[in-house]
Amino acid sequence: MKFTTLPLSSQMIQTIESLGYTQMTAIQAQALPGVLEGRDVIAQAKTGSGKTAAFGIGLLHHLDVKKFRVQSLVLCPTRELADQVAKELRRIARFQHNIKILMLTGGESFGKQLGSLEHQAHVIVGTPGRVLKHLNKESLELSNLKTLVLDEADRMLDMGFIEEIESVLTFVPKERQTLLFSATYDDEILEISKKIQKNALHVKTTEQE
Ligand code: ADP
Ligand code: MG
Repeated sequence: MKFTTLPLSSQMIQTIESLGYTQMTAIQAQALPGVLEGRDVIAQAKTGSGKTAAFGIGLLHHLDVKKFRVQSLVLCPTRELADQVAKELRRIARFQHNIKILMLTGGESFGKQLGSLEHQAHVIVGTPGRVLKHLNKESLELSNLKTLVLDEADRMLDMGFIEEIESVLTFVPKERQTLLFSATYDDEILEISKKIQKNALHVKTTEQE
């Protein structure tokens, strides 16, 4: 399946093609139509299957660039993974130079992040602990959030981030899109999906990690 079958702007299609993405990967073909409709989606696919673009194209599509407020939050288990996600989002966002994507991860200067937050952002990519710290200190405000993504949700649960994630959830609007991406699909993932998603579309590939 080609990306041109999706209801995307021509600039977005052009950027995707310029990245050399001709066909959607299996997880993209299954998840993107629901993601673009604004549905909650829980998606499982092994590492390297293109999960970042599966949620990234969706969240960038839903962005109102003129509104300079945080509209998407992507939570990742580690700083390295957050960095990879931010890089991929910036590649996909290349068609729109005004989109600001900011990383908020642990192990980096909190003060520097405070400075960056004063200049606002459309998308935050971060780790649960550091994002929560900014929420508690009111340096980050998520009342305009449209899309919440838990990337590598299984790893975040394994690493014991559930309390931080649940605390972050108390700061986001009830009316939102929640996307849950994972390399595995088990009872623990289903339980968190039930807690934080509504009428979620389940998308699974056969291979698990
Ligand atoms: P995952 O999160 O599932 O581990 P990534 O989102 O990191 O996978 O993607 C793995 C690689 O595949 C990246 O280098 C990305 O640029 C590339 N990629 C993503 N979608 C496509 C596509 N439709 N066609 C070709 N390459 C793609
Ligand atoms: Mg990934």
